[in-house]
Amino acid sequence: MFDRTRTQQATAALATELPGLEWITDSRVERLSQDFYWFSPVLKRQLAELRADAVVRPRTEDEIRAAVAGCARAGIPITVRGSGTGNYGQCMPLHGGVILDLSAYNRLLWAKPGVARAQAGIRMMEMDRQLQQGVAGPDGRPGGAWELRCVPSTFRSATLGGLYGGGFGGVGSINYGPLASTGNVLGVKAMTVEPEPKTVELRAPEALLLHHVYGTNGLVLELEVALAPAHPWLEAIVCFDGFDEAIGFADALASAPGIVKKSVTLLAAPIPDLLMAATPLMAGSMNPGSHAVFVLVAEFAEPALQQLVAEFGGGVTLRKTAEEVTRSNRTIVEYTWNHTTLHAMKVDKSLTYIQSGYDAGRHVAQAKALRERLGDEVLVHLEFIRTKEGAMNCSGLQLVRYRDDERLDEIMRIHRDHGVFIANPHVYIVEDGKQGQVNPDVVATKMRFDPAGLLNPGKLRGWEVREQIMADAAAGRVSLATLPRF
Ligand SMILES: Cc1cc2nc3c(=O)[nH]c(=O)nc-3n(C[C@H](O)[C@H](O)[C@H](O)COP(=O)(O)OP(=O)(O)OC[C@H]3O[C@@H](n4cnc5c(N)ncnc54)[C@H](O)[C@@H]3O)c2cc1C
Repeated sequence: MFDRTRTQQATAALATELPGLEWITDSRVERLSQDFYWFSPVLKRQLAELRADAVVRPRTEDEIRAAVAGCARAGIPITVRGSGTGNYGQCMPLHGGVILDLSAYNRLLWAKPGVARAQAGIRMMEMDRQLQQGVAGPDGRPGGAWELRCVPSTFRSATLGGLYGGGFGGVGSINYGPLASTGNVLGVKAMTVEPEPKTVELRAPEALLLHHVYGTNGLVLELEVALAPAHPWLEAIVCFDGFDEAIGFADALASAPGIVKKSVTLLAAPIPDLLMAATPLMAGSMNPGSHAVFVLVAEFAEPALQQLVAEFGGGVTLRKTAEEVTRSNRTIVEYTWNHTTLHAMKVDKSLTYIQSGYDAGRHVAQAKALRERLGDEVLVHLEFIRTKEGAMNCSGLQLVRYRDDERLDEIMRIHRDHGVFIANPHVYIVEDGKQGQVNPDVVATKMRFDPAGLLNPGKLRGWEVREQIMADAAAGRVSLATLPRF
């Protein structure tokens, strides 16, 4: 357990000991100790007061090593931060200490056709900007324009390390599945948290052992990821009077193998009205009272898109070419995924959300049944994506008219009763969210990378039972992933 006073004193002493690093100890610490936890009324009550004692913003691996070594020597908790756009208080320190802000550790290291490697703090928009300009192919010949395979709607500010540490996927997952799909993450370089930190390269599949565990079991310095060919993406909003037509269209477009696409989002009424009220930029972009489908397709796929729009009786109410999107620096992506939640909450403060994964093949029937069952209390927002296994499916980011915690739990239970998986966004412990249970491999990895338990302490329940896990492994009751020797 960490003593707050001792941690505060040790952190102040470390900042004095390492004056060459950029330390932040003023009022900015409050903002840098937070993320978008407040999307949840439950977490808002539980986490609002959390503060680090200082933020350090290293620029090089040597600076990171100096900060980490100092924290390890003094037993100071470390919470890694990218841009702090995560949900569920992922980068909020439960026990104070140091926020290790990696946003200045942000170089694209190299790129070749299909693969790139970058420092963890690179913003995804910046990485895409560089990759879309074209990479060098073999013998220095042009290797074409590429981009990240999936980005969150927070791509503008969010970092690649943050997506890996706390995210799931996003725009592009309709082709490549979530980030965790085999073949998306090829390798990571991580640093151990010890008085003399070591760096270790993990290749896939071990490269995923540090994924989506909120920076609790390893500090990621670099990521090597597979890329997607970059196309000029046409952005469109298609409106429908009926929900069945809208979801039929969205599912048909998502599944159409010949239509090159990057994103299909269904926002059932009244969400389009909420978005139009939230920002003047969206005013008039949709038919009032309608159900809207937001799509990104390759510009050359527009005729095929129009064919499906006509088949399902929809109407295109907004259309922007890739050039118009670039010139205006505005994209409909920033109204999808959890940006839908963000904008809707501006208009109706009583709203919160849940996260769900449907059962591929039954997803449309499940969505219709749940809409019927929950009526106006749950507003349907579906993102069409491929599963890790490749089947077309959808993820839900349903908006919920919050009444109380009990009803919120009941709404999630009703989804589970319909066969829909819930990744509860109203909890901050790794195992209570998407992971669902203690993962012995995650805990064993933490024992190697963070033997003193300093990384984001309190968020990984499995850490409390590490000795049992190791005893089970020694007795052959569980088999653990093999890490390289270091
Ligand atoms: C409006 C909104 C929309 C969103 N849309 C999406 C979406 O479409 N898809 C999606 O997946 N998520 C989404 N998110 C969540 C979040 O924006 C993304 O996961 C994003 O990639 C996080 O990046 P970040 O740099 O802000 O990470 P942070 O919030 O800084 O960190 C996230 C977690 O990763 C850990 N971490 C960060 N860097 C490292 C590192 N180098 N090594 C180890 N651990 C690290 C942190 O400790 C923290 O636990 C959304 C959130 C909001 C508020």
